[in-house]
Amino acid sequence: YPNILRHPGPTPIPKKVELAMAQNMISHRSEEFVKLYRETTERVKPVFGTKQDILLLPSGGTAAMEAAVVNIASPGDEVVVVTVGAFGDYFVSICEKYGLKVHQLQKEWGEACTKEELGDFLKPLSNIKAVFATYNETSTGVLNPVGQLGEAVREHSDALYIVDGVSAIGGAPAEMDEWGIDILVTGSQKAMMLPPGLALLSVSDKAWKVIESNGSAAAYYLNLLSYREWAEKGMTPNTPAVSLIMGLSAVCDLIDEEGGFSKTVERHEVMKNMVRKSMNALSIDLLTTEENASPTITAIRTPEGLDLASYIGHLKKTYHLDFAGGLGPLQGKIFRFGHMGYCFPSDILEAVSLMEAGLQDFSYPFEPGAGVKAAQEVYLSSL
Ligand code: PMP
Repeated sequence: YPNILRHPGPTPIPKKVELAMAQNMISHRSEEFVKLYRETTERVKPVFGTKQDILLLPSGGTAAMEAAVVNIASPGDEVVVVTVGAFGDYFVSICEKYGLKVHQLQKEWGEACTKEELGDFLKPLSNIKAVFATYNETSTGVLNPVGQLGEAVREHSDALYIVDGVSAIGGAPAEMDEWGIDILVTGSQKAMMLPPGLALLSVSDKAWKVIESNGSAAAYYLNLLSYREWAEKGMTPNTPAVSLIMGLSAVCDLIDEEGGFSKTVERHEVMKNMVRKSMNALSIDLLTTEENASPTITAIRTPEGLDLASYIGHLKKTYHLDFAGGLGPLQGKIFRFGHMGYCFPSDILEAVSLMEAGLQDFSYPFEPGAGVKAAQEVYLSSL
């Protein structure tokens, strides 16, 4: 049986992408590579909502986050980090590691940050070099209103606005330029339908000016100026993840075949609603409000009276349905249903149906079929 990977990432890989990655290797200094690099980075721009260049790092998302920090700031600089869960904390750790002074706006896990809260937080502060936020908090299934947070940043400071888009970009709407995001980063293994190992980021003109003047940047491998210099030649400074870039080109084909990126976003919205409505029908609680719900991952509270570890273990062992548990303070309290990237309404129907089978095995009181019916209704009304 194939594993039904309904995870926060890595996520399933489309056959077309696998085949693209199986092509013969090419030199990263060849004409073929330059063509692949130039065309592919151009085609990814709508997924970021930017007209600026996309840079590719042979790394995970964390390295791109680290690149954003180390290239713009120097020890002693003051920054604001908005934290709504485990991955906001990454920015805190990275900034502290590089000797920055962090002002942390921390929210309860499961909540989003509002424009007003960020505005009030920024008001008394001065000399803030950058404000960091997470778009999709993968640990809680919260989608922060990063467009509105960008307005607060601009109203109250001239700081750079840096957003971790890992687990959002490729599945959630993104308007990097319109939202005033100065650096937007993501990783390949989530909504981008690729295996792990490629990070994508884009940098605004405002951020490039800061990077150019930041003489004390400590980065060598993650030095964004050298990525920019090489990108002008259609290459990367070091050996890139060539196969993943071939795969990325196939991802762009798939997005085109779907009817463009706005259609991909619509599909994720439908899947989010299918999952949420089916849980409502089963009287199983969700962690987040409708308003802040992520289109790529849903955090589901442990059904009452159920031993979560046994239930999730049973779903995996018996039905090959693979969900992720909760992190940090939410361990044992939630599980996470991933619906990002190469995932379709039919996959949601499958997973909800198997969840119900598992609930029956545990003699959980519910009306069999109610979750599937609710998910079907959402799907049918979307057609
Ligand atoms: N940010 C978010 C929102 C994430 O979900 C993750 C990975 N789960 C990361 C950052 C870190 O990315 P990576 O594991 O690729 O380094």
